[in-house]
Amino acid sequence: MVDCVFCKIRDGQIPATVVYRDDHCLGFEDIRPQAPTHVLLVPLKHIETVNDLTVADTDLVGHLYLAAAKVARARGHKESGYRLVVNTKRDAGQTIFHLHLHLLAGRSLAWPPG
Ligand code: 5GP
Ligand code: ZN
Repeated sequence: MVDCVFCKIRDGQIPATVVYRDDHCLGFEDIRPQAPTHVLLVPLKHIETVNDLTVADTDLVGHLYLAAAKVARARGHKESGYRLVVNTKRDAGQTIFHLHLHLLAGRSLAWPPG
């Protein structure tokens, strides 16, 4: 997808600190971390938002969650906990239109979110 920041990171055209990679997704450090751990898990396939998922993506979504759990475990957050967030469109503040899971951890996270 032309002009998609996360496709460019996937393709190595924009640098990122990659912390996880497999056949279906990529995990890298958020450039403006909001917690001691702030990793973005993105599918290799360009999908703009949750609205654009189809039944064919069912396994891919499960895969993203399993990858996030692996990264959380590797960073020692399995027991202390973490938050997985998917912002979708304007009211949620989505800024990059390539589906991504925010993995936030390493501090106490307020609820409800702002
Ligand atoms: P959204 O607001 O769409 O849910 O989240 C997009 C996230 O991508 C933000 O947390 C933002 O800091 C991060 N981000 C934006 N541009 C870049 C970039 O070029 N590199 C990295 N690593 N993260 C980015
Ligand atoms: Zn993309």
